Amino acid sequence: MFVPEPPDLAQLERITPSIYEASMNCLAKAAWSAFGDGSALPQHLGAILGTAFHTVVAAAHKGELMVEGIGDRSPARELFDKTAQELHQVAHPLVKLKFRSAGRLPFYNLHRERSARIATPVAASRHASSASAVGAARSSALSTRTESRLCSKDGRIVGRADCIDGRSGMVIDYKTGHASEVDADASAVSDSEVRQLRLYAYLAAENEIAVDKGVIVRGDGRRCEVAIAPAEAEAEADRAREQLFRLNAAAAEGDSFHDLTSPSPRNCSFCPCIPFCGPFWAAAKPEWTTVCGSNIEGDIVDVGSRDIQGSSLTTLILSRRAGTLSAERVSVEQIPSEWLRMNGWALPCVGDAVRVVHGRQVQMDENTAVVRVDKAMTAVWRVRRGNTDGGKKRVGEKHGGQPHTRTA
Ligand code: SF4
Repeated sequence: MFVPEPPDLAQLERITPSIYEASMNCLAKAAWSAFGDGSALPQHLGAILGTAFHTVVAAAHKGELMVEGIGDRSPARELFDKTAQELHQVAHPLVKLKFRSAGRLPFYNLHRERSARIATPVAASRHASSASAVGAARSSALSTRTESRLCSKDGRIVGRADCIDGRSGMVIDYKTGHASEVDADASAVSDSEVRQLRLYAYLAAENEIAVDKGVIVRGDGRRCEVAIAPAEAEAEADRAREQLFRLNAAAAEGDSFHDLTSPSPRNCSFCPCIPFCGPFWAAAKPEWTTVCGSNIEGDIVDVGSRDIQGSSLTTLILSRRAGTLSAERVSVEQIPSEWLRMNGWALPCVGDAVRVVHGRQVQMDENTAVVRVDKAMTAVWRVRRGNTDGGKKRVGEKHGGQPHTRTA
């Protein structure tokens, strides 16, 4: 598969919490979040399972998860399975090659059980309250919003909180991943989570729902709270508008994706744009490896394939051009050949350029590094000739010189 093109910039009418968060690290990452073609990249496996998790929890809050009682987790499991299967069916071909069914995704059962453990008591209490007091349930539904799209009065900020409970003045966000900033402190909420909760509180206030508290519920059941003053929520919304203005000013100036990049170990760590972000490859250094992983761009100087236990595996020997490894030669070993032949392509040849993203370095001496693939994370991209200089395509080239407008 070839490295995709970076997105063209355009005028963005509204900013979402996720675009805002991406913009706090790197405006180019925010541009990808706003305008990128998500189907061009293999999904992060955690995103597939996270979406299934959120679907189950949202169904519980909406009263759509029909449980017999607090111990009846079957409806949650069934909904998780159905959602994950649907997401797997439309996933990137590399994801489907690596994992033939949703159930084979790493940590599938862990996420499934966590969603059932969190959603089932919520669903049981929703049914109990609707059975005992229909009127109260109706009034609760009016002040409770589950995954509702909320927009600010000026139309510039939009977001979809997992749950806004107006009766208790609380916005709740469920997290399935780890928050590395807060791992050491079980009761802490990370800076990015606080920003997100404040934006949701602001959107709630703009829609006549008073919220003064944000709650993060982690997949393992940990619950962390943070107070949100109206002034803090408004200040966060102002900062989000500023970022929206910066993105739109860059588009109006004719800047390209590459003009907006801010490569650094912290910003680029796990950034989905790494495969096509020329400035990342130009800036990456060996000391970035601990944060960004083993990423190598090079020219193929040798290719070899062999069958091991019925599977064809290919080794590529690369002459290094760029990346986070310092060795001049890199042997990328045991790549399943079907990853390289995807969509009917022939195996790459000597002289082709490739980018190997998120490999696993197993050995290195002064001149040679040995990298193995990580089934969940690694992708091998072919680079088109002339596409290794940071790709300076300008805004409007694809659109006849007229920047277009995109609504979040
Ligand atoms: S890889 Fe780094 S520089 Fe490139 S878009 Fe992502 S965060 Fe920005």
